[in-house]
Amino acid sequence: MAKYLGPVCKLCRREGEKLFLKGEKCFTSKCPMERHPYPPGEHGRMARFSRRRESDYAKQLRAKQRARRIYGVLERQFRRYYEVALQRRGMTGLNLLQILESRLDNVVYRLGFARSRAEARLLVTHGHFTVNGRRVDVPSMLLRPGDVVAVRPESRRRSFFKQVLPEWAEKQAPPAWLSRDLEALSGRVERMPERGEIDSNINEQLIVEYYSR
Ligand code: SF4
Repeated sequence: MAKYLGPVCKLCRREGEKLFLKGEKCFTSKCPMERHPYPPGEHGRMARFSRRRESDYAKQLRAKQRARRIYGVLERQFRRYYEVALQRRGMTGLNLLQILESRLDNVVYRLGFARSRAEARLLVTHGHFTVNGRRVDVPSMLLRPGDVVAVRPESRRRSFFKQVLPEWAEKQAPPAWLSRDLEALSGRVERMPERGEIDSNINEQLIVEYYSR
């Protein structure tokens, strides 16, 4: 279960927008995108003034990288998701986004049970969640409508779930395709999200073009 271990704020600076990878820090003035809103590296500052026109390929690549980084998925797995999306009925781009949204770590994050997808991933791998009553530790598990995610009873005693989480979750309303019971620290996948309910700034059409070259 490989994951990216490098500096994450550089990823936002490379994409030129906030990807909200660090939870609460992303909403404060400590966010590096507030102070250095240009690509990282020696020539990053000058890149702001560059008039070079981006090729179609560069746009497609950036769209794919942005989506990968938002969901914290490495290239091989992302391509695998694309191939699954291609085989499903309907629009490939939307299918791909629905697959990414239905990952367990993303659902935990969307339910407000973690402050970032990275934190959700960590909590899942440490076994703090159950799916349909069974303990799981695989953040990439794909959920289906009807699946119920809950904080494990033994984990509710931990200070994170007793103090930190309720305060954060109060401020985060779950999207309409999920329902949440804050008292019970559980949530349910009601249906797959529609395109308008996936708020990330992702151009899925460019991703499809990238992989179908
Ligand atoms: Fe991105 Fe958050 Fe880091 Fe800001 S603090 S650069 S939004 S990961």
